[in-house]
Amino acid sequence: MLRVGVLALQGDFREHVNSLTALNVAVQKVRNPEELKTVNALVIPGGESTTISMLAKRVGLLDPLRKFVKDGFAVYGSCAGMIMLADEILDGRSDQETIGGIDITVRRNAFGRQVDSFETDLALKDFKNNFRAVFIRAPWVERVGSEVEVLATYKTENNQEHPVMVRQGALLATSFHPELTNDNRIHEYFVQMAKSVSRVNS
Ligand code: GLN
Repeated sequence: MLRVGVLALQGDFREHVNSLTALNVAVQKVRNPEELKTVNALVIPGGESTTISMLAKRVGLLDPLRKFVKDGFAVYGSCAGMIMLADEILDGRSDQETIGGIDITVRRNAFGRQVDSFETDLALKDFKNNFRAVFIRAPWVERVGSEVEVLATYKTENNQEHPVMVRQGALLATSFHPELTNDNRIHEYFVQMAKSVSRVNS
């Protein structure tokens, strides 16, 4: 049976719990390695990636999280969660570590100060209708590896186009925060992904 963990060290994990609960999925907050063992999919929330990374290290979760990804469990990260899943970060703190797993380079706080936070309607690949995307001091993707599928891009005012939703195998990441809207389609998409991976954690 699918049991989705939500990494609950810092950030908007409650909103992810609510979105998943609305989909009738069994949800478990993950705050330590023992709780990680009880789930077979994981969501990493938005928040502050430097803090999430530091806390994960402190509670001994960083390596178990890396193993969780390597073992092929489904993981979804929004915003700071995207940064945590990226193999490479630009404008990170010099000592900032990630879990990694998605072969992308992300730039933290990429949209700049003037446009700290904004909302826009995004076309998502394979989704029928646009998605109201909430960006808050969001990262964007500057490089994607050959195994990475780009599911949405955002075009800046000077016509630069950057991926803001990507997938690599069982790993999904968005620059924006679907958990802050009532539109649960991305969570639903992730739950379907997790079910098709359908791994047993023991
Ligand atoms: N700027 C944050 C970071 O670097 C991410 C912001 C967010 O998750 N809304 O982690």
